[in-house]
Amino acid sequence: MACAARIRDDVAPRIAAFTERHGRPPGLGVVLAGQNPASEVYVRNKIKTVAGAGCRAELFRLDQSAPVEEALALVRRLNADEAFDAILVQSPLPEGMGKDAEQRIFDAVDPAKDVDGFHPFNVGLLVQKRPALVACTPLGCIELLEREGIAMKGRHAVVIGRSDIVGKPMAMLLLHRDCTVTICHSRTAGLPEIARSADILVAAIGRPGFVTRDFVKPGATVIDVGINTLTDEADVTRLFAAGSKKRAAFAEKGSVLVGDVHPDVEEIAGAVTPVPGGVGPLTVAMVLRNTVTAAELRATRKAAM
Ligand code: NDP
Repeated sequence: MACAARIRDDVAPRIAAFTERHGRPPGLGVVLAGQNPASEVYVRNKIKTVAGAGCRAELFRLDQSAPVEEALALVRRLNADEAFDAILVQSPLPEGMGKDAEQRIFDAVDPAKDVDGFHPFNVGLLVQKRPALVACTPLGCIELLEREGIAMKGRHAVVIGRSDIVGKPMAMLLLHRDCTVTICHSRTAGLPEIARSADILVAAIGRPGFVTRDFVKPGATVIDVGINTLTDEADVTRLFAAGSKKRAAFAEKGSVLVGDVHPDVEEIAGAVTPVPGGVGPLTVAMVLRNTVTAAELRATRKAAM
């Protein structure tokens, strides 16, 4: 069974127990502002998975032109609503909300309901190795490594990307599993050589096919976090060989989803996560698990008061 499906199965008894004990299921409120087509797909998948597992999952939409104050007011309303244990604000927010909108809104989410683990309080707990709610994408990647029995202790892990959402929490989770971690970014000198020394290589860059064979040590485990949509035939032709699956998918649909890792890497790596169908479904499974974790943690805290 695929890893994401096993995570969903593992969480099922926790949902049943919570619902029986509290007379309601764990609840997730999802805030979606504007009409970003990719966000629509992500949000639909998250709600379908969380609701399909027996939790409550409700979507709250805001107009493309909504001011940041409206989003903040909605988050405060969800913070105060006892039916919601978890709040997810889908990124990116419309540009009209302002440059610092994302940070302001993530900071406004009650840390106890912070299903994405983006609040500074939860980031601090992660850094101190006492995690409560951790960012879903890196958490999903770690879950995969653990469930697949990939050794981490003493291994060299290289994370390409240093975002707050993926790169940094990924590095921290690997560090806490006793990897020796190198974090790379757009200013890193000699990137292919550093990447080539990795036993575990995580690509979270946002550049299609960026990680090629010369970035990868033979036998290394490669996790491809990137999700990039190619719509230009020239890009597809440049990146993928004639007769390849990606070319065929593009010919059929006029666009194709590709990761940050070039498909040729499969020939040299020990294992590579596919795009689509790899880290994406794991992220969604972790939204479900974090919703249940948030509900349980809140119930425990209330009982202790
Ligand atoms: P960001 O744009 O926030 O960060 C990208 C990182 O990549 C930055 O740290 C940047 O470096 C680095 N980078 C960019 N260009 C290069 C380069 N030429 N060489 C080395 N490093 C480079 O992206 P995110 O972290 O949010 O997302 C990364 C990818 O993962 C995207 O494709 C995104 O769509 C995908 N994603 C997938 C998810 C899933 O569920 N599968 C969830 C979240 C994201 P610098 O800091 O120097 O600018």
